[in-house]
This record gives sequence, structure tokens and C-alpha cells, in this order.
Amino acid sequence: MAQTTPNHKLTVSGWAAHDNSGVISPYTFKRRVNGPDDVSIKILYCGICHTDIHHVKNEWGITMYPVVPGHEITGVITEVGSNVNGFKIGDRVGVGCLAATCLDCEFCKSSQENYCDKVQFTYNGIFWDGSITYGGYSEMLVADHRYVAHIPENLPMDATAPLLCAGITVYAPMIDGKLHESTGMRIGIVGLGGLGHVAIKFGKAFGHHVTVISTSPSKEKEARERLGADDFIISTDPTQMQSKRRTLDFILDTVAAPHSVGPILELLKVKGTLVLVGAPDKPLELPSFPMIFGKRVVKGSMIGGMKETQDMLNFCGTHNITCDIETVTPDKINEALHRLVKNDIKYRFVINIGDTKSSL
Ligand code: NAP
Ligand code: ZN
Repeated sequence: MAQTTPNHKLTVSGWAAHDNSGVISPYTFKRRVNGPDDVSIKILYCGICHTDIHHVKNEWGITMYPVVPGHEITGVITEVGSNVNGFKIGDRVGVGCLAATCLDCEFCKSSQENYCDKVQFTYNGIFWDGSITYGGYSEMLVADHRYVAHIPENLPMDATAPLLCAGITVYAPMIDGKLHESTGMRIGIVGLGGLGHVAIKFGKAFGHHVTVISTSPSKEKEARERLGADDFIISTDPTQMQSKRRTLDFILDTVAAPHSVGPILELLKVKGTLVLVGAPDKPLELPSFPMIFGKRVVKGSMIGGMKETQDMLNFCGTHNITCDIETVTPDKINEALHRLVKNDIKYRFVINIGDTKSSL
């Protein structure tokens, strides 16, 4: 569709999946020319989120192929539209999941545009002009400036990229749960991956006691010594899970695959809250008894609004929070996707796009 949209005159090199085999290959496509509300961005880095896997393999059944994934983008502005204030050529910026919203509903008007009913995403979305959106596995992006954030000067562009999705996705429910307004709460993070490892850092920066609930004993030492986790429970060990019943105030579940939430709910104190941010392709079973007996709350959360995204980046700038990354060149994207599926990454792959023009 994008190729036939009249204002799509820019030829851009990137990487796309063409079917649910999930294999990524070089792909040349068109983007719109920079409009009055747009900024153009030379992409330097793009993180590989597990959502990219859900899309390239069509695990959620919504993929429009070819799909150019990538919504953890950092880069430098190369062009600015005439209506744009607050950005100039050369600015270091980031783009996350949002590409378009209605700008008019109660959510758009209250800086919660991520919950707009007309939300369209950075890839596999349909932009205002009818074109399919293509994401950050590419050399440049044209973005409406309302969905672009500034990167604080002290943060590196590579290890900051995953904050644009993983970071805001765990920050927003923590703010919603008022974790920034008190200290000393006992919080749990289920799944120590891209989202989970940033969640530990935010939990510690807010001054809480952080427990990791993981399937991977091999991650314990590092989680405690390097990421600052206070406790580590193996979720597949019923004895460990039983011994920590009713100990946590708030749990964030970041797991990407179907799993049992009953034993996780039992870890919550009475009236504790479980927030689901992981998005498995199959529904989770929600057992009534742990909810009834503990008056517990289960809710979901999706990324965050742009104001909150900028707040999160500024918070990271102040507290020097970045992601633990392994950088890959674009020719290694398939290898990285494969290793991410196998849970073989501590904790986020980031594609180095800016240095690799010659290999396009
Ligand atoms: P990730 O890096 O793969 O991390 C997920 C972690 O879940 C793994 O590291 C692993 O941690 C654990 N895990 C994996 N398979 C498991 C299984 N079968 N049972 C139990 N635990 C398992 O993924 P991510 O990039 O952090 O994304 C996580 C999920 O969040 C994905 O579904 C993604 O689509 C979703 N997401 C949602 C939003 C939102 O707005 N709500 C935004 C971004 C991403 P351990 O080794 O510690 O067990
Ligand atoms: Zn993501």
C-alpha cells in the first residue's frame, strides 16, 4: 500500500520479514516525504523487542507482510517540518511504538494517547495517509513530531534505544501504581528479559525491595550483583514459591509465553496488584481463588504516553539508567531473533544501523 501513496517518494533501505518463517532479509521500500508536522531521523540504533518476534512470526495473527519491525529507535534529526516546534536538525531523539493517534479524544487530550482507540503503531500500523507503517529496522524514519522524544545528553544512543519501548512499558505501570511516591515497598518482576531487567533498575531507583521471579537459575548471580535485585525466586520450584507467599505488594509480569499466573498471584499480599505487560499469543488462565482469598487486583498496561516517555527518559538521565545490551550488525538480525526466542540474551539486542550503510 505504501508504495502507491503519492507522497511516498523517499526510497529507504531496511530489513523485513516476508512471511511467518520469521526470516528477516534486506528490503527497499518507500516512506513519505517530510511533511509540515514531521521530522526526518537518521536511525543510529534500534532495539529488538520480543514484540518484533510476535510480529515477524505472526504469533498474534495481525501481521501485514512485508513487516519492517523495530520500535526502539534512536537517531539524529535531519529535517524538520514547518509546523514543528521544539526539535531542530542535529537533535538526538528517540521514537517508540506510537506513530499516530486521533489527537482529539479524552486519552489524546490527557497525555494518555497510547490508549486512543485509533492508535497506530510505528510498524504494522496504518498511518493517517493510508500507508502501512514501517519500523526502525531501516536507515531512516519520518515521524510526526508529536511521537518523538528527546534523548538526554548524558545517555548513550545504543543502550538508550530499548528504553523507548521496554523502558516506558515498565515505567508507566510503576508510576500508575504510585511506586514513585513511597519507598520500601516489596515489588516482584516476573521474567528477566528486556522489559524485566529495566524494571529492576526502576524499582531500585524508586527505593524498593525488588524480587525477581524467573525460570532461569543462571540469571540469579548477575541479577543480584549487577542489576541490584534483592531476592530471586525460581518460579518452577514450588517450594520456593510457597515460602514467599503473601510477601509482595506489587508484581509486574513481563513474560512473553503462556504461563501459570495462579502461583504468581499467591506471592501477593492481600490487596496486592499484578500488572500484566507480557503479551503471550494464548490467553492466560485466571484462577478465582487466589484473587478472592487475597482481594487481589489483576490489570494490564500498554507502553506509555509521550509526556510520560519524556519523563521516563529524563528520569533515566538523572539516575544514569540505561539498558544492558548486546549490539549486532544488521546481517546478524536473524541470529539475534533466534537467540531471543531461546532466551539467550542478557538482556536486549540492539541493531547498530548507523555505522553499517555499506552493508545495506
Ligand atoms: P524477553 O526479552 O524475551 O523477556 C521475556 C522473559 O520472560 C524471558 O527473558 C524469560 O525470563 C521469561 N520467559 C520466557 N519464556 C517463558 C516461559 N515459557 N515461562 C515463563 N517465563 C518465560 O521479552 P521482552 O522484550 O521483555 O517482552 C516481554 C513481553 O512483553 C512480550 O510478550 C512483548 O510482546 C510484551 N510487551 C508488551 C508491551 C506492552 O505495552 N504491554 C510492550 C513491550 C513488550 P526468565 O528467564 O527470567 O524466566
Ligand atoms: Zn516493544
